[in-house]
Amino acid sequence: MARTVTPGPRRRPTTASPRMIDAPPRLPMRGTGLSEAEFQKTVATVEWVPALEYGWDTGEAIGRFLAGLRAGKIYGVRCRRCGRTVTPPRAFCELDFKPMDEWVELPPTGTVNTFSVCYVTWDMKPLRKPQVPAVIEIDGTTPRVGFLHLLGGLRGTSVEAVHRQVQIGMPVRAVWKPARERSGAITDILYFEPVRGKGRKA
Ligand SMILES: [Zn+2]
Repeated sequence: MARTVTPGPRRRPTTASPRMIDAPPRLPMRGTGLSEAEFQKTVATVEWVPALEYGWDTGEAIGRFLAGLRAGKIYGVRCRRCGRTVTPPRAFCELDFKPMDEWVELPPTGTVNTFSVCYVTWDMKPLRKPQVPAVIEIDGTTPRVGFLHLLGGLRGTSVEAVHRQVQIGMPVRAVWKPARERSGAITDILYFEPVRGKGRKA
């Protein structure tokens, strides 16, 4: 069928006109799956266990915090300008842009700021008894400055069972590893357990 072309205003031909190219042809997949035994027999593999070591400088603030945990103590730092006491400690006050002023030893007790009920491990393995990660505000620190740890000493495995025993604002205390097993890590505290019979913090 003939096309009717209405002549428009004349355009200058440009040298940079796009060039049409063909798309590459689609080829059928020709791969062949291997069984584990075939893979072990036919594919060259190398097994190598690298002996790699690395060091991590914890810095002054976290270094002293971890040393405290090994000794069964929780340390925090205070800024006199804003009046906050925080743990884990930090070298500088992020509100005042100045070094923290003093170290304080805090009690091994606190309250639950928030929590979750978790049925998978960090590497996605299913758990029958859930882990209950929680943000703990250590007593003596400024409200809403806490750290993440686990709640333990709970009975039952269902979400409902956890909810019956855990509430936001609930008092808890640290359960420590035996002193000889501590290594200067946050896991020197095994978990925080509910302080039963104590009222909720307002
Ligand atoms: Zn401050």
